[in-house]
Amino acid sequence: MLRSKNLRQILSIEDFDLYDQKLFLRLDLNVPIKNGKVTDSTRIERAIPTIRYALEQGAKVVIASHLGRPKADYQKELSLDPIAVKLSELMDIEVILIEEVRSEAPKALLASLKKNQLLMLENLRFDEDEISNEHGLPSFLASYIDIYINDAFGACHRNHASIVGLPQEVKSRGVGLLIEKEVEMLDHILFNFKSPYVAILGGAKMSDKIPMIEHFIDRVDSFVIGGAMAYAFLAAQDIPLGRSLVTSKEISLSRKLLERLKVREKNIYLPIDHRVSSSLKNTKDIQNTKGQSVLNNLMALDIGEKTEKLFSDVIKDAKTIFWNGPMGVFETPEFSQGTFAVAQAVAENTGFKVVGGGDSVAAVYASGFADKMTHISTGGGASLAYLQGEVLPGLKALEPIKQSDRPSDGAMT
Ligand code: AMP
Repeated sequence: MLRSKNLRQILSIEDFDLYDQKLFLRLDLNVPIKNGKVTDSTRIERAIPTIRYALEQGAKVVIASHLGRPKADYQKELSLDPIAVKLSELMDIEVILIEEVRSEAPKALLASLKKNQLLMLENLRFDEDEISNEHGLPSFLASYIDIYINDAFGACHRNHASIVGLPQEVKSRGVGLLIEKEVEMLDHILFNFKSPYVAILGGAKMSDKIPMIEHFIDRVDSFVIGGAMAYAFLAAQDIPLGRSLVTSKEISLSRKLLERLKVREKNIYLPIDHRVSSSLKNTKDIQNTKGQSVLNNLMALDIGEKTEKLFSDVIKDAKTIFWNGPMGVFETPEFSQGTFAVAQAVAENTGFKVVGGGDSVAAVYASGFADKMTHISTGGGASLAYLQGEVLPGLKALEPIKQSDRPSDGAMT
């Protein structure tokens, strides 16, 4: 298969002779941790093929990641220690945690690493220059490595030191296997899609999703819209929505979008009923509305039963599906049914199905249908930026700066 046009100038980890090379692997190991234990290891698992490949090829590996948003140069709850423990368990290797990001230790330790050992730097964001991309952090890290590989797709939209500054200090640089897979899958729904193409959008942050609708408008045949996002479209058609989450700015944006969708003859499917309650906490008085409108004292918190059926019927016939955003407040079990029904409909569809964006990914895992999706992006904000046609700084930084600067050391191509 042809490599993505967005990666065509970029080398893959498989293009390098890694034997005995000191390899810096930037990963996205930003996983949830509770009481010192990793509670969801998906991102760690998705990073393993690249780590394994590098070790099998004989590289001396140092891996690095950010975790959360530290407010100091050390916070125990944001230490990568539990991640090192989990990775060690999952791969049956020794992971040596280097307690300072800007440490001299890797210089000495890397060369003497054994086959089943690797180094892991502490949370990159404990060094404030990771985010500012300043004060020599990139050149410090570059001073002890031969090859830089970025496999942190979820961080590629950031202009940070380990994503943008560091690769520009290293001649031999490229992407790992996860980024290749992510880009291939997202390119498929951007450029190689088959009709009928259905985009399922939900969630609450409408401003994040508008550019996506704009970018997808010529590709997609039908938009299925649920979650709080749908209320702006309903309110734009003067449907009363009680105390449901909707702002006047969103309503005017929706009105314009509805007009554009009509001109382009695109289908838009909105909720025809809702699960409502007087408040999110009050789950005793949940009702299913008869139609689209919501009484003054109530708020819609999930799509209703008739909508589940309508959305599932549209999803059934699709050949390409992209899904971002839950259909309701799925974190509360009483309002998760709509999202799970949509997850089931997508799972039963036999087309090409990609789920992208933070909350929809969590929702699909919670639904139990994750293994029925073609691809679940680890990307969050980075996937959305990519799908909106933005050039990701983390990928741009891997391109040759000029002809004379093309990676040659260690590269076989
Ligand atoms: P987003 O980050 O834009 O994908 O939004 C995800 C959030 O939207 C989740 O935390 C949901 O609980 C929330 N959400 C979805 N539907 C509704 C709704 N009907 N009312 C309020 N919040 C909602």
